[in-house]
Amino acid sequence: MSGSPNSASEAAPAPASPAAAVEPSAEPLNVLIVGVGGQGVIMVSKVLALLAQAQGFQVKQSEVHGMAKRGGAVFSHVRFGRQVWSPTIPKGEADILIALEWAEGLRWLPYLKPETGIFICDTKRIVPPFACLNRRPGAPLRYSRETPADVISQVGEGYAIDATQMAEELGNERAANVVLLGALSTALRFPAADWEQTVAKFVPKKTVSVNLDAFRRGRAWIEEARVVTPAVESRAAEAPAPADPAYRVRLDIVAAWCKSCDICVKICPERCLRLNAERIAELAEPEKCTGCRLCEWLCPDFAIRVHLEDISAMAADAASEGAPR
Ligand code: SF4
Ligand code: SF4
Repeated sequence: MSGSPNSASEAAPAPASPAAAVEPSAEPLNVLIVGVGGQGVIMVSKVLALLAQAQGFQVKQSEVHGMAKRGGAVFSHVRFGRQVWSPTIPKGEADILIALEWAEGLRWLPYLKPETGIFICDTKRIVPPFACLNRRPGAPLRYSRETPADVISQVGEGYAIDATQMAEELGNERAANVVLLGALSTALRFPAADWEQTVAKFVPKKTVSVNLDAFRRGRAWIEEARVVTPAVESRAAEAPAPADPAYRVRLDIVAAWCKSCDICVKICPERCLRLNAERIAELAEPEKCTGCRLCEWLCPDFAIRVHLEDISAMAADAASEGAPR
């Protein structure tokens, strides 16, 4: 990876970064956005398509929703340029691959241009239920073993970014897709102000502020990573490795969103959920929960979030905090 910082705004001087060189000229520019249902893949693609159109390009967009259910694969092709004929990106022809989920990013890597493609991937891992090898809490998961450093070394330019964590820190986990939009914005010469105006059109009014913060956070992260190349390497190496860590499950249930439908209670294979006295879902027997995510996927009101916390990473953090300075 190499390159110089891209300017925070429009008329950036031609930088040496491969990312900054990505520009729709004679050939259309191909951006592939992938993730799983409920992550906001389509929103990212619509923002990009609308912005490119507003900049005077011809745009073609195609999308596939994973069986219209959260948890299914979702991808969107966006192509723009002076003249675009086909809406789909052939294998090996994507200039940029934006992945909102780690394993989905790896799955689509063959679509990236081998020498010059830019890979921007959230390290967020959404482990499907069938990846649980057995029902023992903390059991190993059948999931991608590649580390961010492994993957980044194979692409023209790559960034493993903990967008979900950044969005959580800003107070809205759902803004992770906008963190990635901020990252994407550094690879295209569209004015930052135009990006922000377009983002603001696509998010609920009351979340405009947090989404713009998320956009700026993603943008700043990539710009900093480009300036200090060694930091990119070390950040990638530090990012959580998608191996088979022992993990601890944490469930967040937003009481205000729970409509007491009882679906999660009925579908939980471990029978560890129940409705409390106020008829709000709660985790009654946390020690039984395997983190299979069925409750998160099937809650019609998005009231449940399942977090798999890497116990070994938490222990390492605790040890480093306790170490003498
Ligand atoms: S499925 Fe969702 S809305 Fe229904 S009880 Fe469970 S948490 Fe509440
Ligand atoms: S509470 Fe949710 S994540 Fe845990 S076992 Fe039940 S359905 Fe799976």
